[in-house]
Amino acid sequence: MGIFLIIAIVFVIGYFLSIRSHPFTKCRFCNGTGRHFGTTYGYAHRRCRRCGGTGRRDRLGVRFFRGN
Ligand SMILES: [Zn+2]
Repeated sequence: MGIFLIIAIVFVIGYFLSIRSHPFTKCRFCNGTGRHFGTTYGYAHRRCRRCGGTGRRDRLGVRFFRGN
């Protein structure tokens, strides 16, 4: 049982350090482009609503580790 606890702690610390250095991931909704293309007119697009046009999303746990 103890070994699993150690693995879990190492995993959490590693993820925490990873979040600190790389808090963002690409938006899955627009695939990181920040744009959402229409289906009829291929050139027509708008800002992605999920990420607000940045193409970035907070990674899972960013808010948890930041404490807000
Ligand atoms: Zn997006």
